[in-house]
Amino acid sequence: MVEKKEMPLELKETLRAEFNKEWRKELRKSIPAKERMKISPQKMPEREPEERNKDFNEVNIGLDAKLAKKEAQRCLDCANPGCVMGCPVGIDIPTFIKLIEIGDYVQSVRKIRETNSLPAICGRVCPQEVQCEETCNIKKAKGEGVKIGNLERFVSDYESLKGDVYIPQIQPATGKKVAVIGAGPAGLTVAGEMAKNGHKVTIFEALHISGGVLVYGIPEFRLPKSILKSEVEYLKRLGVELRENFVVGLTATLEDLKNDGYDAFFIGTGAGLPNFMRIPGENLVGIYSANEYLTRVNLMKAYEFPDYDTPVFLGKRVAVIGGGNVAMDSVRTAKRLGAELAAIVYRRSRVEMPARVEEVNHGEEEGIEFHFLTTPIRYIADEKGLVKAMECLRMKLGEPDSSGRRRPVPIEGSEFIMEVDMVVVAIGQSPNPLIPQTTPQLNVGKWGNVEVDWDTMATSIEGVYAGGDIIRGGATVILAMGDARIAAAEMHKYVSAKKKKRKVPNAKKKSKE
Ligand SMILES: Cc1cc2nc3c(=O)[nH]c(=O)nc-3n(C[C@H](O)[C@H](O)[C@H](O)COP(=O)(O)OP(=O)(O)OC[C@H]3O[C@@H](n4cnc5c(N)ncnc54)[C@H](O)[C@@H]3O)c2cc1C
Ligand code: SF4
Repeated sequence: MVEKKEMPLELKETLRAEFNKEWRKELRKSIPAKERMKISPQKMPEREPEERNKDFNEVNIGLDAKLAKKEAQRCLDCANPGCVMGCPVGIDIPTFIKLIEIGDYVQSVRKIRETNSLPAICGRVCPQEVQCEETCNIKKAKGEGVKIGNLERFVSDYESLKGDVYIPQIQPATGKKVAVIGAGPAGLTVAGEMAKNGHKVTIFEALHISGGVLVYGIPEFRLPKSILKSEVEYLKRLGVELRENFVVGLTATLEDLKNDGYDAFFIGTGAGLPNFMRIPGENLVGIYSANEYLTRVNLMKAYEFPDYDTPVFLGKRVAVIGGGNVAMDSVRTAKRLGAELAAIVYRRSRVEMPARVEEVNHGEEEGIEFHFLTTPIRYIADEKGLVKAMECLRMKLGEPDSSGRRRPVPIEGSEFIMEVDMVVVAIGQSPNPLIPQTTPQLNVGKWGNVEVDWDTMATSIEGVYAGGDIIRGGATVILAMGDARIAAAEMHKYVSAKKKKRKVPNAKKKSKE
């Protein structure tokens, strides 16, 4: 659900100015609101379930120009656009949609890029149904808001297909050096913003490929890696330097980087530490954390073993524990790798599942089984130590807990055995601990999250900022990007105010004076 908040004055004024432009007035007049309201939502074309559940190619095909125009015509171009209030980065949604309606795709994607540097990614993975589409004024009247995410994807794909990615004006070089730690959506966003402001940006990334969860977690069938590649190329064109295979805390500490002359730092190291249930048998062979499973398959291409070095166990009866996006990605991956049973085992009901609705629907069409109100309580091994079954307990829903969702309560005596030969545990991730462990002055909360001032994203160390999953625990791409934009604005102020370091005269010279 979207939190109700006041729209910043500057954004209000920008929206108003665009709304009052002559071409917008003409366009509004060209189709009366009543007619626009009669247009049905345009369905996203997708591949057939029986075909797509056997390969890793993208499920959604994307709107064509005709469908995009029709969907854009559904938008009423409201004077008070509810959609913008639901967008964590405040995209001028009506303007980009109306530019699609008139066929000016180039300007449309530029409009999005003013506040969102990863539109092709957000158009695919953002939970729009609980953000901008939830607060779209049409949703209240017609039950289904404008399909903003599909339109965002349409224009950004147009841009990359044309190969004509807009490079914004870069400010003259300031001579200031900025270090960004972690190349996930948070780090990539800070890097882009700081580079545009003329600062020299270096990203330090632990893995051999940049992109964070977008490259090692979210599978190809939802987010093709080629898209990420072009976003990273875009940053390189802005002058950002990428240093991959560089683990801050191991290769060098934050303090070492400080001594190398960096003026400001952004920590965007994410939440990659898997949580476990700590139940008997959880370390049996055949039980993976979702992180390890997805990394083996997505990043290391384990499905092409032995052509690639990394193997993965190909379970025939696979249970995935959890109900979020990570669980859905894992179970749909297992299905594609040949599992006869690929099942979600979730302790609440479908309504409480945190996964995107689209993912759950797609999974269901692809043959995923759902075992709701069920939780494993122990794993059982065969004579070789491989998992062969799990003992489960049925649950019922009680009163809401602190998350607002109804609490699962065990039903006494409801134990039963489920036969499995592989389990993936996807019950959440915690912030990566390496930087907090190697940076003693960094204040950390009780869940291992780096603590920040939420208005500025400043940490307890001067000149060091943080954002994304490292401060929130596992959250979303757009929230990581929202944090990053706040941090970048503050970091720009901070480094701009910093005086150029004066050269310390050498001792010899000094003694002469
Ligand atoms: C499987 C899966 C599916 C998801 N699906 C969705 C979805 O559909 N929609 C959505 O909005 N969100 C989704 N999420 C959540 C979303 O991906 C994250 O919230 C987002 O990626 C957080 O961005 P980040 O930049 O903070 O961290 P990350 O993406 O985790 O990036 C952190 C980067 O820092 C690097 N790093 C870590 N430690 C160090 C170090 N010491 N030195 C150098 N580099 C380091 C890591 O290697 C990584 O590249 C999903 C998450 C997962 C795991
Ligand atoms: S609230 Fe909905 S209809 Fe109104 S401008 Fe935004 S997308 Fe268009």
